Amino acid sequence: MNCEEFARQLDTLDTSQDLSKESALNRHAQECAECAALLQLFQRALTLCLVPPAALDRDLSLRIMNQVLLQARPQRVLALRFWLVAGFVLLLAGLLPPLLVDYHHLAGSMGNDFLIPLALVLGSAVSLYMLVFVGTHMITASNYVKKHHIMGY
Ligand SMILES: [Zn+2]
Repeated sequence: MNCEEFARQLDTLDTSQDLSKESALNRHAQECAECAALLQLFQRALTLCLVPPAALDRDLSLRIMNQVLLQARPQRVLALRFWLVAGFVLLLAGLLPPLLVDYHHLAGSMGNDFLIPLALVLGSAVSLYMLVFVGTHMITASNYVKKHHIMGY
């Protein structure tokens, strides 16, 4: 038997066949190191195929589902830089109008009929911004207070 025949016979072997009874194969494997290595690999593969799949001793699905249900819902987080940009834009909206020529023209001609609505709109925008910012950062602020032991916590 040569190496080619050995490989061909090894391929045609039934997995239920006992390799030790294949005397022609074993004889060649004793003379040829390459084929001996191939035979050993084949035997290891067969051994792995015969091992029954690992079975879980317990059903984990209930434990996993309980953990999933107990997890806090993920919250949509807006990066702090977006809040800062929005605050900066709001600040510019409050500071820039007095620098504009039209502002002085309108304030001079309309007086409080122009200034009061403008102040109300800007004040409402700043109030809304602060309300939403504080409302969405309560947990962060609370954690900060706890971490730095502020206010006796
Ligand atoms: Zn060989």
